[in-house]
Amino acid sequence: MAHSGRDIGGTKRALWRAMSKPLEGKVGVVFGVANKRSIAWGIAQAWAQAGAKLIFNYQGERLKENVEELAATFGADTPVAPCDVSRDEDIVKFFDFVKGKTSRVDLVLHSVAFAPKEALEGSFLDTSREAFRVAHDISAYSLVAVTRAASGLMSGGGSVVTMSYYGAEKVVPHYNVMGVAKAALEASVRYLAYDLGPKKIRVNAISAGPVNTLAARGISGFSAMLTHYEQHAPLKRNITLEELGAMGVFLASDGGAGVTGQTLYVDSGYSVMGM
Ligand code: NAD
Repeated sequence: MAHSGRDIGGTKRALWRAMSKPLEGKVGVVFGVANKRSIAWGIAQAWAQAGAKLIFNYQGERLKENVEELAATFGADTPVAPCDVSRDEDIVKFFDFVKGKTSRVDLVLHSVAFAPKEALEGSFLDTSREAFRVAHDISAYSLVAVTRAASGLMSGGGSVVTMSYYGAEKVVPHYNVMGVAKAALEASVRYLAYDLGPKKIRVNAISAGPVNTLAARGISGFSAMLTHYEQHAPLKRNITLEELGAMGVFLASDGGAGVTGQTLYVDSGYSVMGM
């Protein structure tokens, strides 16, 4: 069938929009911004640049102002609300707030982890029952709780992205109980992907190389990790927030339409090395 010049122009414009703003019209919920160094902030910026409208959580009063200030860079009316993911009642309240702002959610970023500081020093053998419980509750179970709550609003399908680290798979000294929690997180990604596939909701993890953030500085010997990656990763450098943002957009957009249940590495190639 012959196309008029106008039709072709329209198609071109639609194509250009899809390429430059692949998340246009999407609504995303972002968990885990603490400050401008947060991985969640890096991915949120990329999602917003790609056209998504975002709603943010903050963990508690201590972080409220920071998150409000950052969120306001996308417009003064960007919704922000408290949610401590270790509290079911907070998750219910947060998603009630979300329902008041939008009838549909397409994207969820879960960029949240915590383990008591003493569990990230010394040996894994000394991990207390309580530190093990807290690390798994906040760093792994919360993905299940948040995804369940969000999935009720993901009527058009969508994409859930969480953040992991190589310590899930291999022993990284001092990462300790967080590595075990990340293994639970990555397994949860696979089971959630299976449960939610029929609803066209995809669930994936990005396994990031070390990034100098608030959470990372809680890991004993963290700066040595940065140097180690620079010396040993194939790309001979550390990764950037922009690179995590680009992977976040890929997973959230149609580029990743056939990808679910996976852990994708953005780590300068470090994880392929045997020595
Ligand atoms: P960050 O400190 O900026 O972010 C961690 C976030 O978790 C904070 O916003 C904090 O408020 C939130 N959080 C902790 N407990 C919470 C709770 N009970 N309820 C709600 N929110 C809670 O640090 P980050 O490095 O950006 O961490 C984000 C994610 O990336 C984490 O899952 C982390 O394990 C993962 N990750 C980080 C690195 C790294 O080197 N920084 C590498 C790989 C993966």
